[in-house]
Amino acid sequence: MSEQTVRSRPWLTTIFSSRTELWQPPPIPFEADIAIKDGKIIALLEDAPVSSADEVIDATNRLVLPGGIEGHCHIAEPFFGGAKLADDFRSGSIAAACGGTTTIIPFAQQIPGMTLRQALDDYHAKATGEAVIDYGFHMILSNPDKQMLGQELPALIADGYTSFKVYMTYDGLRMEDNQILDVLAAARAHGAFIMVHCENDHCISWLAEQLERKGDVGPEKMGVAHGPVAEREATHRAISLSEVVDTPIFIVHVSSHQAMEQIAWARNRGLPIHAETCPQYLFLSTDDFSRPGWEGTKYICSPPPRDPGNADHLWRGIQNGIFQLVSSDHCPYRMEGPGGRIESAGELHFHKISPGLPGIETRLPLMFSEGVMKGRISLQEFVAVTATNAAKLYGLHPRKGTIAVGSDADLVLWDTEREVDITHDMLHDNGDYTPYEGRHCTGWPVLTMSRGTVVWRDGEVLGQPGRGEFLHRELSSAVKSYAG
Ligand SMILES: [Zn+2]
Repeated sequence: MSEQTVRSRPWLTTIFSSRTELWQPPPIPFEADIAIKDGKIIALLEDAPVSSADEVIDATNRLVLPGGIEGHCHIAEPFFGGAKLADDFRSGSIAAACGGTTTIIPFAQQIPGMTLRQALDDYHAKATGEAVIDYGFHMILSNPDKQMLGQELPALIADGYTSFKVYMTYDGLRMEDNQILDVLAAARAHGAFIMVHCENDHCISWLAEQLERKGDVGPEKMGVAHGPVAEREATHRAISLSEVVDTPIFIVHVSSHQAMEQIAWARNRGLPIHAETCPQYLFLSTDDFSRPGWEGTKYICSPPPRDPGNADHLWRGIQNGIFQLVSSDHCPYRMEGPGGRIESAGELHFHKISPGLPGIETRLPLMFSEGVMKGRISLQEFVAVTATNAAKLYGLHPRKGTIAVGSDADLVLWDTEREVDITHDMLHDNGDYTPYEGRHCTGWPVLTMSRGTVVWRDGEVLGQPGRGEFLHRELSSAVKSYAG
């Protein structure tokens, strides 16, 4: 048993009532003491009885926000392309915690020949004893046969795996439209929430072939082969497939305003289409590809960052609720050494470089600094797109994503005045670079608490590997509200 109080005068906190619906504006910040017992918030008080607490955390002049929920990250996956993912559950979860995130939901990827259950056992073995914060798993589906959709899928949903991802591109993962329809029909029958990677595979491979024929394969050609038209078309097609089956979907890592417009169109028609964008589409652009030599390859991800004017559109998408989440799509590689990007690619060729970039630790500080501090989004919108909406969409609310009585004490103290220039040296992932090197941030998470335990404080990692727990997730709010 332990009792704690997070207390300060004056201070602010943000509370989202457990009855708050996903699209309503949440209440305004207010001052309170937070009483915590056995990892849960037991009271929000005007004046907590401090003397009865084992530990009092002074949050004077700090902002106390719900811990971030990272709904899109790749940890310890066998990855496409030759390079090896740099983070295991220890380094990935520590990096997340140091960046103010208290829950991660990485993907469990099925290796051909494995059942979904075997793939999950494999990921549980990787996470157990390693994760410092709580975690769940989305499952990547690649072989939607009758056995999987009729038997494995419903059994997994009952066990707390309620979200599944399908790809419209990548050899070995790509599903044809009829297969996606089968998945969506099974999802509708059993309450699964389907996440879709939307890019037109044939467009990409055809364009890549044209470029290869000309020997025009520098990093900047990533943005040509994976152009916004291929993303727009696939996004529209995924929306249409969802409409045919009449079931909600979630569109991952939307990079272009062209794709965003399809989502806006669908939402205006009342279709249950949900979506996220990522920091790399808000803070990076095609200009970054033209950095000399291998530098330009640090920005290759799929879909890639777009032209410099694109980010303004995406910010409007966040402001207008077209995007419900901003996720990192953390997919860390090392550039140097064995298994690194340079060695595995062998040459400067946009399609030989394993796609993906790191960002699990920088997601919240970048969004806070560029979003809240620059007045693009409110504090409430920041919390919604980085925590609360993820908790709701991925079946964790109100246990996670909110500061409310009965919720887990997953809290982050923000120093809103701290000025930080991001360098990879200060980060905790196991890669060897950050695409945000040198970028200035105002505001930084200075303490992260996971279920009442401080895991990160003033530059020190305190979370013990293995303390993170697996989260059995409920059905997505998107699925539940759509089922009525
Ligand atoms: Zn991803």
